[in-house]
Amino acid sequence: MSDADIIIVGSGMGGATLAAGLKGSGLRVLVLERGQLLQDCPEARDAEAIYARGHFRPAETWLAPDGTRFNPGNFAYVGGNSKFYGGVLFRYRAEDFAPIEHLNGTTPGWPFPYETLAPFYERAEALYQVRGDASVDPTEPPHAGQYPHPPVPHEPAIADLDARLRKVGLHPAPLPLAIDLGRWRSRADTPWDGFPDTNGGKLDAESAALVHALSDPNITLRTGVQVRRIETDGTRVTGLLTSAGRLTAPRIVLAAGAVHTAALLLRSASEAHPNGLANSSDQVGRNFMNHNASAVLALSPRRNRCVYQKTLQFNDWYLRDGERPPLGNIQLLGRVTGPILASQTGLPKPLANLIASHAIDFYAMSEDLPDPESRVTVKGDDIVLDWRRSNWEAHLGLVAKLKETLKKAGFPIVLAKAFDRRTPSHQCGTARLGEDPATSVCDTFGKAHDLDNLYICDASLLPTSAAVNPSLTIAALALRQADHLKEAAQ
Ligand SMILES: Cc1cc2nc3c(=O)[nH]c(=O)nc-3n(C[C@H](O)[C@H](O)[C@H](O)COP(=O)(O)OP(=O)(O)OC[C@H]3O[C@@H](n4cnc5c(N)ncnc54)[C@H](O)[C@@H]3O)c2cc1C
Repeated sequence: MSDADIIIVGSGMGGATLAAGLKGSGLRVLVLERGQLLQDCPEARDAEAIYARGHFRPAETWLAPDGTRFNPGNFAYVGGNSKFYGGVLFRYRAEDFAPIEHLNGTTPGWPFPYETLAPFYERAEALYQVRGDASVDPTEPPHAGQYPHPPVPHEPAIADLDARLRKVGLHPAPLPLAIDLGRWRSRADTPWDGFPDTNGGKLDAESAALVHALSDPNITLRTGVQVRRIETDGTRVTGLLTSAGRLTAPRIVLAAGAVHTAALLLRSASEAHPNGLANSSDQVGRNFMNHNASAVLALSPRRNRCVYQKTLQFNDWYLRDGERPPLGNIQLLGRVTGPILASQTGLPKPLANLIASHAIDFYAMSEDLPDPESRVTVKGDDIVLDWRRSNWEAHLGLVAKLKETLKKAGFPIVLAKAFDRRTPSHQCGTARLGEDPATSVCDTFGKAHDLDNLYICDASLLPTSAAVNPSLTIAALALRQADHLKEAAQ
């Protein structure tokens, strides 16, 4: 007797949303998660504990290609990385599904157009109760209706910023957010980006999707269970070797995140699959993308009295920059405070406090293009991450353009710092979907080309990173896969 009809490995954005999509299907679903439920504690709203002391960071280390060990900000709790996310739930723009010429290369496009995913985006927005306004951003793709809820209101300094940006010719719009502001603030008055959700104020993979899924008695969650290896008979997965013993199901879904899913496939190499599972294309672990992203601090004599701040974005340079190819998206970061700035820059605390109190901080994000040499590999028990940034010229262009524009908008000093491999927040692409088994790992529903009963349902599937946050696209793909699995089971 197998342990379930479907085992899902990982309870993050992909795994939990898939479980929610399977609710009510009658299928017995078992979700395995290596982490535990994130319990409320004083540190959950303490910037110093989170940023300076790394209270919630896993002990895990990965290797850089030169053998240096680093501790990635890749979280292991029920809900995965989404427990810490900024709740920004963007749709990819319609143009992102076709090949795009960038400053340093061309993206391959997707095997289907935006319209294929649009109904699933809509369902994902309903599940995550997204707040937004689809009528403001000129790059917004077609929506069948409005967002489920109106946008999270700007704080006064951000309403002022919105007016300043409009004056210099930009088109700022509300960030689409999975945040119940009242509930979030009822726990403590802090930003939410980077802070873990413990009261359901942030609609994340656990609080929005998994809780919903687990109301179905056929769906169960086991925490603290790490999947170590996948067994096959050559054409089908026959079992999972886990820290809690061997588990079996007729269908297995890997949703362990783009780095761990690839590592698991590579670690499961066998005589029948010498290069790792699902890897006849040699694409597993390749095409690792992570966005080129920088924190940009705009300083002015005005004090920034915002608490949460993260409500505005603009895409004026997303599709083109005049005659130039795309540069990327700009959105606000969660409010930088003295402890956060001191921990990230080494500045003395009094100076960090002073700068933070006069700063509005932005997140500048450019597309990272798929590169087969940018990859995850395994070495014994270790994960090696060789991230080759691409399209860097576009990112430098984006940051320069933002600096110039913010100066015009009344921020005389603008500082920028790029994020590096220790922040793999937007990791994706390592088991991409596609129609051609020679160049992709999974079909367009996420089924591995090489194995009859193995699926992938996380950021690994994304064939391009676009230049917007990935979670809603992961969730939309998961809901699409849920429908496919329900049909296949009939
Ligand atoms: C600070 C921060 C802010 C972010 N902000 C945003 C945002 O505003 N908007 C947005 O769209 N995205 C954001 N992201 C990114 C977003 O969280 C990820 O893109 C998303 O969670 C990825 O979903 P996933 O299903 O691929 O993987 P994950 O959510 O990482 O889930 C993978 C799960 O699998 C588990 N797992 C791994 N290996 C195993 C194993 N061997 N056995 C069992 N379980 C395993 C992990 O513990 C984890 O729970 C942010 C990320 C971070 C870190």
